[in-house]
Amino acid sequence: MLATPEVIDAYIDFLKNYKPPKLKSKLPCTFCKTTESTTWRPGPIGPSTLCNKCGVNYMDSGKRNRTIDLILRGSTPVWLKKDVNSWVWKEHMVADIEDPRISMWIQREMIRNKLTSTYNPPPAKKRRL
Ligand SMILES: [Zn+2]
Repeated sequence: MLATPEVIDAYIDFLKNYKPPKLKSKLPCTFCKTTESTTWRPGPIGPSTLCNKCGVNYMDSGKRNRTIDLILRGSTPVWLKKDVNSWVWKEHMVADIEDPRISMWIQREMIRNKLTSTYNPPPAKKRRL
């Protein structure tokens, strides 16, 4: 496309009217995929990424421990769920890597893991005398 004055004007108009998409309302819950919730709660991926129900399960208050969590196994994000009878964490499902919030989280986690292993190296084995 040629950068004629009309094209430039159109581009300026586009920039002037451009609004970033609102993220909070329409994106589904990162755990159960619902788009309907009275309130959105923080999750492992960030604020307002869990619906009310899942957010409560993720909350870690003094009274009750969290029963869902997200881990990175290799490069695969896996949702864990605590079995209410045995209190053992079980793999629930692989998180939706198509979700941009989850792919961002994976990148962040990978960097974080790299940093933690750099700055907190495993303790060196004690030499036997
Ligand atoms: Zn949910």
